[in-house]
Amino acid sequence: MATMKALVKARAEPGLWLEERPVPEIGPEDVLIKIRETGICGTDIHIWNWDDWAQRTVPLGLITGHEFAGEIVAMGAQVEGLEVGQRCSGEGHLIGKTSRQSRSGRFHLDPTTRGIGVNEAGAFAEYLRLPAFNVVPLPDSIDDEIGAILDPLGNAVHTALSFDLLGEDVLVTGAGPIGIMAAAVARHAGARHVVITDVNPARLELAAQVADVVPVNVASEDLRAVMPRLKMVQGFDVGLEMSGSQAALDQMVEAMVMGGRIALLGIPPGKSPVDWSRIVFKALTIKGVYGREIFETWYKMIAMLENGLDVRKVITHRLPAADFEQGFEIMRAGASGKIVLDWG
Ligand code: ZN
Repeated sequence: MATMKALVKARAEPGLWLEERPVPEIGPEDVLIKIRETGICGTDIHIWNWDDWAQRTVPLGLITGHEFAGEIVAMGAQVEGLEVGQRCSGEGHLIGKTSRQSRSGRFHLDPTTRGIGVNEAGAFAEYLRLPAFNVVPLPDSIDDEIGAILDPLGNAVHTALSFDLLGEDVLVTGAGPIGIMAAAVARHAGARHVVITDVNPARLELAAQVADVVPVNVASEDLRAVMPRLKMVQGFDVGLEMSGSQAALDQMVEAMVMGGRIALLGIPPGKSPVDWSRIVFKALTIKGVYGREIFETWYKMIAMLENGLDVRKVITHRLPAADFEQGFEIMRAGASGKIVLDWG
């Protein structure tokens, strides 16, 4: 049997282990993808750390990873419209086709969704089996390392495009890689001002390098002091909450205009108190965002990348897959943007 290298959650303790695994067999509607580049995600850090969520969710022995770019090397007998040799990324959410949501074309809302690298064998490996339905072909203009971060860029695009941004003042709370990319998307989509907040100066510096945004360190600077500088009269029209921090959401609600709109992607660690009366009296709209719209977000994202959206600087480290431990260490220290592992 042919084998491959794969990063496996082999033990019920912090860490991942590089092991030899059988190359996946594909079904009639699947493709086999030779992986070239993968991105390390916050989700992978939870799995590495083996926290409560990971223990409840991830089966031991799972091949991890869900952010990837590669090349199709084999196809099932019933696959149409793709070719061996096609470079691709792909949607890592494996959806069912029988729910009301799926049958009405809202695939990303299917309640039976399973994730590669979380529930099913993932992309931190030399080969990945994926349903052909999930494949997203890459145009020549999008190289493998950008292809490997389309999953998180897709989260950013989905969140940012939740509301009309043209001419609006946008507040992004949380300057992690997805927050920074959401800020870049908001700018690309025609926002007037994009302000991004965090308490980590290195992340804010990275944000300012990636996009034309106004970084504000809310540990030392008052968000309200920034508004007159930008000739803002009332507050922000659109808020993108990417941090999961209760304090950040609180500041955002405070800083919104009457009738403002907020998209939430950040995940608070547990229940957090919310002053709902302010949300009611400000007539705010709040939307929770999950994953990417399948496949509208992918379409818009690739169109924007082909039309000048540039997020490459959010990739701060590139390492061979064999050096994965170093990559996870850097990520866990919070001292990086996106880290890309090269599978050769
Ligand atoms: Zn991810």
